[in-house]
Amino acid sequence: MQVKILGSAAGGAFPQWNCACKNCRAVRSGKFPGKPRTQTQVAISQDGRSWFLLGASPDLRMQIEATPELHPREGVRQSPIAGLVLANADLDHVLGLLLLRELQPLRVHSTASVRRILREDNSMFAMLQRIPKQTVWSDFPSAGEFHLADAEGEDAGLLCHAWSLSSHYPAYVAAERKLQLTPGEASLGFVLRSRSGPRLAYLPAVPQVNAALLQQLNNCDVLLFDGTFWSDDELIRVQGRGQTATQMGHIPVENILIKLAELNRPRKIFLHINNTNPMLDEASAQHRRVRDAGWEIAEDGWQFNL
Ligand SMILES: [Zn+2]
Repeated sequence: MQVKILGSAAGGAFPQWNCACKNCRAVRSGKFPGKPRTQTQVAISQDGRSWFLLGASPDLRMQIEATPELHPREGVRQSPIAGLVLANADLDHVLGLLLLRELQPLRVHSTASVRRILREDNSMFAMLQRIPKQTVWSDFPSAGEFHLADAEGEDAGLLCHAWSLSSHYPAYVAAERKLQLTPGEASLGFVLRSRSGPRLAYLPAVPQVNAALLQQLNNCDVLLFDGTFWSDDELIRVQGRGQTATQMGHIPVENILIKLAELNRPRKIFLHINNTNPMLDEASAQHRRVRDAGWEIAEDGWQFNL
């Protein structure tokens, strides 16, 4: 399986358009000891020809253009992107779907609840359904692994196992709709693999870690893990108001380093990093602590084979 990290920042990217925090100001001044980042986007492929996107970021158009493997190869209208797998209905995870509306056949794998939010409550997503088989939606099975497939149903040679991580739906979902949705379908993590290959865990939003999750993570070979905030009160300290990391559904990195310290099998990579996170500064004590703990901090353009 080939894995490409097209974007590694949390919602808003780095720098964020309306943010003048220490990190964002330093990036704009050209003096930041670190790298700017687009919003989190991962692409995977078994054969290098047919690609699946994990989510669809608002930065997807430029991320595709920056990745030659995702450019059209045959004819006037074509894309190597065969489909998508959605972990949640957050805007920074699904807005890019609207950028894929040019009548390209695609399959979207998601929970039934995420499908209903997007298709039944947000009429703009009808642009993905203008012709038959433009976008084919597949609900995750209630248990076990499923095969990723293109719009025609052709098996891509990749298996996905989805775990429920949170029952928290995005703020834009209406209260009466939330009552009709299945709580366990709000936010998921994935384990992806080819038939006989190593396992990639993709968990961009992890509200808590329990013993069962730790055990599942230790069966994986690479973790792409929630690195949104360094500390629980990070946003409140930067903005003077707002929610804690925990209230927003993210365990702070400083706690993850302790809770996942015993995991020795997988390669551990943080992604979905908020622009306020001090570990983005490669000269910071926080960056040093992450690296000393054996973790890596994803950058746009990273790729590896599993
Ligand atoms: Zn900022």
